[in-house]
Amino acid sequence: RMTEPTITARTRQILRRHGLTLKKSLGQHFLTDRHILDRILDAAELGPETGVLEIGPGVGALTERLAQEAKAVVAVELDNRLVPVLEELFAPFPSVQIIHGDAMQVNLLDLIETRLGDCRQRSVVANLPYYVTSPILMRLLEERLPLDSIVVMIQKEVAERLTAEPGSKAYGSITVTTQYYTQPEWVTRVPAHVFLPRPQVDSAVIRLRVRETPAVSVSDEHLFFRVVRSAFGQRRKTLPNALSAGLFGGKRKGELTDWLVEADIDPKRRGETLSLVEFARLANLLDERV
Ligand code: SAM
Repeated sequence: RMTEPTITARTRQILRRHGLTLKKSLGQHFLTDRHILDRILDAAELGPETGVLEIGPGVGALTERLAQEAKAVVAVELDNRLVPVLEELFAPFPSVQIIHGDAMQVNLLDLIETRLGDCRQRSVVANLPYYVTSPILMRLLEERLPLDSIVVMIQKEVAERLTAEPGSKAYGSITVTTQYYTQPEWVTRVPAHVFLPRPQVDSAVIRLRVRETPAVSVSDEHLFFRVVRSAFGQRRKTLPNALSAGLFGGKRKGELTDWLVEADIDPKRRGETLSLVEFARLANLLDERV
C-alpha cells in the first residue's frame, strides 16, 4: 500500500513523460482521488459479464479500474494527443479498446453492438467533460441505446437538475426527460479539489438506471416532449399561457384552460410544478383533442 503511487503522481508522471499540458477547453479535469473512484465503481455494480462504454478516458485512471472489473471496456477519447498514450497504457489489457472520436459524433449504437455485443449487461461509466455533459446525456437517453445503467460524474448543478422533484427550482425539462427514461439516484458529492487541475465548480456522481419501459405511457412521445418544453419555456407564465405560446402560436388559451381542467390539473398552476404523470395525462388528452 505504502509504495503504491497516488493517482495524482501517476497522472503527473504520464503527462510529464509525454510532454502534455491539460486543455480546459476539452473539460480536462482529471480525477485524482482513489476514494471517489471506489464510489464510482461501487455505483457501477460491474460484473464479469458487464461491458462498459467510457466517454473521455483522459489518461486512464478510471479506465484502469473498469478494466479490472468489467468484461470489456470501450473508451472514446476526443483528444488525439491522449490516444497513443492510452493505447500504450492499455496494450496489456486486451479487453480495453480505445477509440479516437467525439462522443457527440461517433455511432454509439454501432460501437456498443460491435464491441460490447457479447456482454450480458452494458453500462456507461464516465467522468464527463463539463462543456458537453447535458448533450451527451440526452444523446445516450434519446437514442434509446441498449444500456442498463449510466454512472457519471458531472457538475453538481446538473446532477441536482437530473434528480430534482417537481416544483423545485432545479426541476426542468431535462429532469422530465431523464426521469422518463431512467430512475436517477444521487451517489455522492465530489469537491473541486480532487481534480487536476481544480475546476471552478463542485461535481457529483449520479446513477441512472435505465427503465425497460418509460416511466409514463404516452400516446405520442413527440407531443409529450413538446408539452413539457412549452410548460418550462415560459417559467413566469401560467400554464394556459405557456402552452398556448409553445404549442399554438399564442392561440387557443380558452380551450387549453378547459383541457387542463379535464386532465385534472388546476390551470392556475405553473408548468414547473407538474409531475411526469400529469404531463403524460395532459399530453394524452391533447393528442385526443387536437
Ligand atoms: N476519465 C478521466 C478522469 O476521470 O480523470 C478524464 C475525465 S475529463 C473530466 C474528460 C475527458 O473527456 C478528457 O479526457 C477530454 O479530453 C475528453 N473529452 C472532451 N470532450 C470529449 C468528446 N466530445 N468526446 C470524447 N471525449 C471528450
